[in-house]
Amino acid sequence: ATAMSKIDLPALIDAVADTISEHADELTALDQAIGDGDHGLNMKRGFEAVRAESAALAGQPLPEVLRAIGTKLVMTVGGASGPLFGTLFMSIGKELPTEPSRADLAAALAKAISAVAARGKSQAGQKTMLDVLYPVQAAVAAGKSPGDVADVADGAAEATKPLKAIRGRASFLGDRSIGHVDPGARSSALIVRAVAKVMEH
Ligand code: ADP
Ligand code: MG
Ligand code: MG
Repeated sequence: ATAMSKIDLPALIDAVADTISEHADELTALDQAIGDGDHGLNMKRGFEAVRAESAALAGQPLPEVLRAIGTKLVMTVGGASGPLFGTLFMSIGKELPTEPSRADLAAALAKAISAVAARGKSQAGQKTMLDVLYPVQAAVAAGKSPGDVADVADGAAEATKPLKAIRGRASFLGDRSIGHVDPGARSSALIVRAVAKVMEH
């Protein structure tokens, strides 16, 4: 009996796939600056593959759907980000009860983000998606509204700009990675904004 148990799953999947596709060129440009320029295409391929399964997923409980999304992302996104976003969604699905409270969501996010960090051998401050995911978890745990959580995510993505990359391809650039927003941080913020919009309705 929470905002989450009433979530319209096909709408959620469409919202995330739409924003990733609409911003694919922007994500690619960010990855061209400090990586190999495939992040937009990687993410678009993954979330369009998820969208293609949307009808089949719609009747299933939320935790199963999240696990299926994670599996699909691992199979389709590729690169460094595929297994990491895949782990994120699979772990949230594993941790969430069928009708989660906000506290359940905060706890599931905390465990899932730890799983991503373990998988990436990474931590906060290294200019990766984690620099958005940790503050998002904290904002959810603090009881912020979906819109405010999305604002936190946008700010956190922007705040990766002055950081030096310590993990992933961008780390090969050393100091030259400074001054650019991390692509995975930006895609994470886009996903959070899309989820927040659906949760507000
Ligand atoms: P690739 O770098 O293999 O081409 P992508 O371009 O799809 O993969 O994804 C790059 C993004 O993945 C980075 O912007 C960063 O946010 C994230 N990333 C890469 N390595 C790690 C890691 N070890 N831990 C956390 N996030 C990472
Ligand atoms: Mg790349
Ligand atoms: Mg690549």
